[in-house]
Amino acid sequence: CSIPDTANLCSSQSSVNPRTVIPYKSSTNISSLETLQLDGYFSFDHIDFAARDFGNRYHFLPLAVLHPKSVSDISSTVKHVFKMGSTSQLTVAARGHSHSLQGQAQAHQGVVINMESLQGPEMQIHTGELPYVDASGGDLWINILHETLKHGLAPKSWTDYLHLTVGGTLSNAGISGQAFKHGPQINNIYQLEVVTGKGEVVTCSEKQNAELFYGVLGGLGQFGIITRARISLEPAPKMVKWIRVLYDEFSKFSNDQERLISSMDSFDYIEGLVIINRTGLLNNWRSSFNPKDPLQASRFISEGKTLYCLEIAKYFSPDESDIMNQKTESLLSELNYIPSTLFLSEVPYVEFLDRVHLSEIKLRSKGLWEIPHPWLNLLIPRTKINEFAQAVFGNILTGNSNGPILIYPVNKSKWNNRTSLITPEEEIFYQVAFLSSAMPSSTGKDGLFHILAQNQRILDFCSKASIGAKQYLPHYSTQEEWQTHFGPQWEVFVRRKSTYDPMAILAPGQRIFRRK
Ligand code: FAD
Repeated sequence: CSIPDTANLCSSQSSVNPRTVIPYKSSTNISSLETLQLDGYFSFDHIDFAARDFGNRYHFLPLAVLHPKSVSDISSTVKHVFKMGSTSQLTVAARGHSHSLQGQAQAHQGVVINMESLQGPEMQIHTGELPYVDASGGDLWINILHETLKHGLAPKSWTDYLHLTVGGTLSNAGISGQAFKHGPQINNIYQLEVVTGKGEVVTCSEKQNAELFYGVLGGLGQFGIITRARISLEPAPKMVKWIRVLYDEFSKFSNDQERLISSMDSFDYIEGLVIINRTGLLNNWRSSFNPKDPLQASRFISEGKTLYCLEIAKYFSPDESDIMNQKTESLLSELNYIPSTLFLSEVPYVEFLDRVHLSEIKLRSKGLWEIPHPWLNLLIPRTKINEFAQAVFGNILTGNSNGPILIYPVNKSKWNNRTSLITPEEEIFYQVAFLSSAMPSSTGKDGLFHILAQNQRILDFCSKASIGAKQYLPHYSTQEEWQTHFGPQWEVFVRRKSTYDPMAILAPGQRIFRRK
């Protein structure tokens, strides 16, 4: 199956077919790495795991994997590579949980740092007026949740799936249904400890080394390796009222979403899904949700239709359930969904946040987790969302989809515009995520080739219709495309790169800069 985007790669892998594993080892580089005094260790064999990711399409074999035990292991390694200067082409990639889609956490013939083995100081939780947790860059969000809950606290902003690392999501943004209220995860960080591309260990925050702090947040791993993050917390709720309703008109659905995100006294989580031609949809929901009107719900037909599902949640403590129910009913009464499709559920907070893990377990048991994932994530300005929906859901994606399609608006005013993350210009924009899975060796509509072609049609439409879309978890083949992605921010990005990683050692898998 041909991958359409392998030409003109910007980084040191430029002549490499991304699906090829190259069994080549540079003995000079190996022996130079072996001279380093470390608390942890390097592996040079059995390292093919570091050439895999969730996307399962790009496989770059590294030269070595560092299993660091301390921040100083990471600093010594990067400093060593930096000092080798242009006599070496070695690069360094931090690898979080490797849930990237196109090899972003890989380093062809370079050093991959297995961040999950970093044993920093234990997670420290500070209670008080502005509570926070100090966590390692390699910590998984699910572990942060469990630890902070012991103190009745939890982070404010999440991703839909929690088995991702702090460093991995902060290098992108970390967006979920709480982002309309709290901004993405990168907006909820007080301080970072970072190893720069020169191997220096730097503490940074809004007040201290602010340029590095904002550069690293959403910075695609380009300016430093996050070894520690101070994450803001809030009192954790015990329970969640979780609600799904359906619409058959996109404009009614998006109007309701926009109305809900405009008020802070609204739900605590607001997302949405596009559902194309699903059989027995509401019957499937019954395993986790109860229909408000069972008889009407049993008569509802989803086959042959494109439907829009608003997914909302309200947090509560069991002793406040009456007030929460009143508030929820009042909010629901203002919405224009199809009345027979109101489904409700009450679940513990952890179960709600860790919901995607249940799907992971099911998919793994069927061998459907480790298959190619040609995902496409876009941020679409509000004024273009109807045009986008009409073209994409009414025209390009007809018949079915190969995985969930998420769609929900967020307020830009809640997002700090000093970070490296690029978003559309408008005050409200939509996150639209096509989370496709490709059946291995299928040449049909569920195969990789078909899905990649469909993604390309969506991108082509956005470009021809001047939608002003920005890719989230971006992936490009040429530096020119990166420049277009960053727009006026490109100069800032390049300046930060030359300050903090002048030899372009870090995160080569993003393929933005060429190793010097
Ligand atoms: P990796 O894939 O390991 O790394 C990603 C990038 O960050 C690489 O370039 C890597 O070099 C760099 N990096 C890793 N660790 C560090 C570090 N400590 N310091 C500096 N750079 C580092 N995203 C959302 O925003 N919202 C969602 O709801 C969401 N849901 C998802 C659900 C699933 C099932 C999956 C697979 C992904 C989802 N994502 C979501 C995307 C996810 O946030 C990104 O893919 C993220 O990068 C994954 O984290 P990771 O730890 O696996 O990072």
